Amino acid sequence: MIVRTKEMNSKSNATLLRNSKNPRAPLLIYTSLALVFFVAALWAARVSVAQKQAVADDFYPAWADHAQYLQPLRVVDTDSALGRRNLHPKNITLKEMARMHGHLCDGLVTSWVQLNVALRLLFPDGVVDRTDLRIVSRNCPCCVDAGAWMTGARINQGTLMLDNSVGVGFIVQRISTGAAVRVSQRPGFYPAPLAELEQSIRTRCAQGESASSTAIDRFEDGADEYSRKLLNTPPDQAVIVERLADYHFPDHSQNPIATRSDTINRDAPRTMPQPAVTQQR
Ligand SMILES: [Zn+2]
Repeated sequence: MIVRTKEMNSKSNATLLRNSKNPRAPLLIYTSLALVFFVAALWAARVSVAQKQAVADDFYPAWADHAQYLQPLRVVDTDSALGRRNLHPKNITLKEMARMHGHLCDGLVTSWVQLNVALRLLFPDGVVDRTDLRIVSRNCPCCVDAGAWMTGARINQGTLMLDNSVGVGFIVQRISTGAAVRVSQRPGFYPAPLAELEQSIRTRCAQGESASSTAIDRFEDGADEYSRKLLNTPPDQAVIVERLADYHFPDHSQNPIATRSDTINRDAPRTMPQPAVTQQR
């Protein structure tokens, strides 16, 4: 046992007094505080970035990331507004297209798969020249976005023709060679009950009635299930391909205009309340 004497306490107090008068002590305190604030700010920034990433990527489900037959598409464009053709190709992905389009949907996935089949046939070297294409698409919000983005075809340049008679599919033509292919959906691949449900929702909306939240939920679940199946199926089992000899691209002045159809339920109530910050599925 140590017994502190008066003399020891006196020496100890003197030492404390000397330390408190150390001219470097305030600097050490300020440096320590600055370090603590820096670490706290760094942590807060990392949490904020992680939250933003979770919110920003919520539109794209994890099952699409791991789909068996999903690959990037290699494309070339031009270097600038007056530029030459790119020297090196770039990759574009379904996820980037979903971000551009606004959501991942069955129409977008179907278009991605069908156009991939057509483009890989027209460009056997695997690099798609988006300066050398024109297409025919039916007028639906998802397939027209996909067609324009994946091929470089545009309504305003007369290279994207809208024709509802092509059905669920596209006609794609390589301008420089004239080679053309038609791609369409293999009958029976899209579930008939899902098509009926979609039609019933559209009919109700067209009649000015609101669709039920459960019906919208059931359609979204079914559409996701279909998209997942499509991305995990060999494309030749889901897509019919037909080469078109001497194909003449139609008159682009006949483009039929239609109102946007993928926003008709934007104000419908949700079945379940959504969390403020959602995590990636
Ligand atoms: Zn869509």
